[in-house]
Amino acid sequence: MAANAYYPNLFAPLDLGFTTIKNRFVMGSMHTGLEDRLKNVEELKEYFLERARGGVGLIITGGYSPNFLGRLTPWGGSFTSSRSIRAHRSLTDAVHQTESKICLQLLHAGRYSFHPLLVAPSKIKSLISPFTPFEMPSWLVNSTINDFADAALNAKKAGYDGVEIMGSEGYLIHQFFSERTNKRTDEWGGSLEKRMRFATEIVSRTRAKVGPNFILIFRISLLDLVEKGATFGETLLFAKALEKAGVTIFNSGIGWHEARIPTIASMVPRGAFSEITSKFKKELNTPFIATNRINTPEIAEGILERGEADLVSLARPFLADARFAEKAKAGQAESINTCIACNQACLDHIFGNKKASCLVNPAAAEESKWLPELAQKSSKQRRVAVIGAGPAGLNAALVLLKRGHLVTVFEKSAELGGQFNLASMVPGKEDYRESIRYWKHEIETLGGTILYQQAITDENAGESLADFDHVILSTGVKPRKVDLPGIENPMVYSYEKYLRGLYDGSIKPAANIAIIGSGGIAVDTATAILKHEHTLSHQPETREEYFNDWGIRPELRGGLDTKYVPPRSPIKITLLQRSEGALGKGLGKTTAWAHRMFLKRSGVDHIKHAEYVEVTNEGLWIKNKQGELKLIPAAQVITCAGQVSENALALSLQKNGKSFSIVGGAKLAGELDAKRSIREAWEAAIQI
Ligand code: NAP
Ligand code: SF4
Repeated sequence: MAANAYYPNLFAPLDLGFTTIKNRFVMGSMHTGLEDRLKNVEELKEYFLERARGGVGLIITGGYSPNFLGRLTPWGGSFTSSRSIRAHRSLTDAVHQTESKICLQLLHAGRYSFHPLLVAPSKIKSLISPFTPFEMPSWLVNSTINDFADAALNAKKAGYDGVEIMGSEGYLIHQFFSERTNKRTDEWGGSLEKRMRFATEIVSRTRAKVGPNFILIFRISLLDLVEKGATFGETLLFAKALEKAGVTIFNSGIGWHEARIPTIASMVPRGAFSEITSKFKKELNTPFIATNRINTPEIAEGILERGEADLVSLARPFLADARFAEKAKAGQAESINTCIACNQACLDHIFGNKKASCLVNPAAAEESKWLPELAQKSSKQRRVAVIGAGPAGLNAALVLLKRGHLVTVFEKSAELGGQFNLASMVPGKEDYRESIRYWKHEIETLGGTILYQQAITDENAGESLADFDHVILSTGVKPRKVDLPGIENPMVYSYEKYLRGLYDGSIKPAANIAIIGSGGIAVDTATAILKHEHTLSHQPETREEYFNDWGIRPELRGGLDTKYVPPRSPIKITLLQRSEGALGKGLGKTTAWAHRMFLKRSGVDHIKHAEYVEVTNEGLWIKNKQGELKLIPAAQVITCAGQVSENALALSLQKNGKSFSIVGGAKLAGELDAKRSIREAWEAAIQI
């Protein structure tokens, strides 16, 4: 077979002896919430089938417990019944028609379970579950090993090509391996050999049960990123023992869930951990999968080309674009809807007990609802004007074009993206540019027209919009003005003006800065100041800089310098708010802690219950909780006080009797949120 002209390594098949994976793309395990109930298997099937049709070589499902006690939540899914086997048959059959392979992930949560009947090697509570686990008696350890093997056999009977045994991220198997959570003195704890035994027994008993011709992936923690984690040497011995026990492929696990190091958030550079995978791959004969922040075909191809791994796992990127692999194969990387690592609609949903979806792709895990709608041309072609080219406007345009309408986008500035454009100026959010690239490319490919520097005003609306049957008003938001004596002082900036100034070099951060507001935008603005060299250079952090920020040292135990104190910034930033509540209130659960930690370690102050009094040349005067007048010394004051809708045009559209819909920030600025804006835009566009 001829090599792919664009990404020869990505599209080279992988021969495992008894079976062949058609390319090197693995859709990594990602819990969607659809796994938890058998009634959702049909929806799950559509979700996987869309990715399989999109050309992915190997899919790994979300985690299923091998028994009742190992469920992640009280309603979490397990793979223990003949009903599961029957229900999943149609799913695996459907996937196999596309020649993709699919493995079921077996995950016993151990002390990470969110139900009171949780068990672990030792009675040590984790930081992330409210419950203290019961210590597993020896008979339960033994029966749990058999449960893994039985569940794997169930997966085989259900038509799966293999299983992934989740042995990393701090789940049960990892808890047995790690001395931080395993204090046992019986045959399952103590020495390294005894701590490895639970995992090696699972692999060997599973292999004995399922036979040789079944893929057995083991997700092994290559970097624990916690105190008392494993060393490189210990993990290597573990991997060698697992290889001997019958593993077909190793997947790379990075960090315990309780680690206080971001490993998949947007501030993590792309492909940051592939070198770690490479170190292990060199020492073993089993294929390795590289993971974490691989979100473009170029990054994936580079990892394979350098021989760092044999396969690449992308989890969230396949939520963002089910057709990622197919587009890469055709050399259409420009048309890939890139995952921006925001976690807002995927992991934040799962941690909030909601079904996962994707901020940039509302169809993810809702394929049955959206795909027929998107594929169906509207019964009547209409000429639609979209006013404002932020995430809402561009998404409305995209869906309208897919439905066969004629679309013109009017953007008053010289650039696309609205709030996404602003966000992309913040170091660690450079990937937001990819969304803008994708929207622009798709709109132009589908024949839409984008007009730049075309402001629609009350005066010209009648004439400019005369030829359109419908208008989408997606004019977004503007920063809320703060009413305060001294607010007109030139040292006071709106966040928008300040960020743009840092980005184009016209503003340099002062030594003391006060920020009015402590929400998501204030956190972003503080980050852009602290990393102002990156804001100015427009370049993301390198792997070395990121490792340095967080004290990651792969050569040390746990891959972490536990004594490392990052240098404080010489710039003194104070974030203020009037209310009670945490810094960055409103940020997602899975990322807010990392932002807070970064700001705290950089020496940023946070003041609650501030009553703003006045801005003078000395700084910002406030009254504190006790009513005392205080000066926050500052040479620059930035207002990050939320937004108000920019929708003045609505009135003249109404007056002119124009048919129109308002979407996104223009409709509701409160809790301005790209997830809501994009979804709303899709829904409005479908109605036309
Ligand atoms: P926000 O999160 O609602 O925060 C607004 C801040 O302004 C609050 O701290 C509020 O605190 C303050 N404020 C409100 N009215 C004020 C007034 N009249 N005078 C002075 N202060 C006032 O809004 P945002 O920071 O602009 O963010 C907008 C949205 O984008 C949010 O939903 C946010 O979560 C989202 N976002 C998300 C990310 C992300 O990474 N996921 C990043 C940025 C933004 P007090 O009322 O207590 O003073
Ligand atoms: Fe990626 Fe954000 Fe979509 Fe999750 S919600 S898949 S992080 S773009």
